[in-house]
Amino acid sequence: MLDHGFSANAAVGRLEDLPRARLVNGITPLEAMPNLSRVCGGARLYVKRDDAMGFAFGGNKVRQLEFYLGEALNLNSDTILITGAVQSNFVRLAAAAANKLGMECHIQLEERVPKEDDYYRHSGNVFLDQLLGATLHSYPEGEDEVGADLRLGEIAQELSDKGKNPYVIPLGPGHAPLGALGYVIAAQELLNQIKEYDLSFDQVIVPSGSGNTHGGLLFGLRALGSELKVRGICIRRNTEIQFPRIRRRCEDIATLLQVKNMVADHDVILDDQFLAPGYGLMSSATVEGILWGARYEALMLDPTYSGKAMSACIEYARKSDPDSSILFWHTGGTPGLFAYQNDLSREFAKQSQDRI
Ligand SMILES: *Cc1c(COP(=O)(O)O)cnc(C)c1O
Repeated sequence: MLDHGFSANAAVGRLEDLPRARLVNGITPLEAMPNLSRVCGGARLYVKRDDAMGFAFGGNKVRQLEFYLGEALNLNSDTILITGAVQSNFVRLAAAAANKLGMECHIQLEERVPKEDDYYRHSGNVFLDQLLGATLHSYPEGEDEVGADLRLGEIAQELSDKGKNPYVIPLGPGHAPLGALGYVIAAQELLNQIKEYDLSFDQVIVPSGSGNTHGGLLFGLRALGSELKVRGICIRRNTEIQFPRIRRRCEDIATLLQVKNMVADHDVILDDQFLAPGYGLMSSATVEGILWGARYEALMLDPTYSGKAMSACIEYARKSDPDSSILFWHTGGTPGLFAYQNDLSREFAKQSQDRI
């Protein structure tokens, strides 16, 4: 597979020595969003297309999986175990990566979102998990990361007893943040593109969930000497809870790479005003983000992550002066759209009467 153009750099310590399974083929596009910039009437808008990876519908988890799967291959594992929400993109991509690397995959789906309709339960990522042939398990509690990890450990033990060599991708904090390394590399990729296209940005907008994307990107930028502002849009927890999580994530990356953590407290910028009504649930601003992304820039955004980050991007674009530039990081999630088809069709009809 193609090289990422990542050069040996003391600032990122051991990164080059850690095992990595190549899943992202090349770099992702960085594109202008002229139509959306015009309708927002403020900052110039650009998009980093991590949805456009060409691997099983792409998304940020492909970058993150490269390091988990690298370690799994190193340990001669034959089975990947992972836990996530019913419409998790992470588990879908883990199943895809496992297939590509000749492994089996066990997925544990947690009850994290109070949605019972058929589309949510069976379409989108769930449908793809089944298409990919993963073994599905369920876990009744969606807010219990430690419990979900423990249950996954039990399944791993059962597989070991049967002679398998399982590799668990952990959910909760307290584990080496291998996934975040994918975004340390993405920081270098972005800096290369900024240089190549002669661009400058006032801020990057990215969803902030587990913190591997937000923390990894921020860590990478600061390690590589860039002061570019990264704004994390909370999609699961409020700012108060997310802030220490991102700080801790950056500390853990520094420990893993054996370099100094260059991320200061004031670098951790979070906004939770787009989170309501909660994880995996849409507000009218989320619907607007999804609708405008599609209608002005042909971007497919999802209700849980990229749609919420887009609604933030629209708000910040409107408030910013025309000399400024904002980079929206599209983290993918495309299949999630189909899980919300019911809600969205209804909302689109309403919104198109109001606004378009
Ligand atoms: C998981 C996910 C996120 C959140 O990324 P984290 O690294 O967990 O913070 C954002 N967007 C999409 C599409 C995701 O699947």
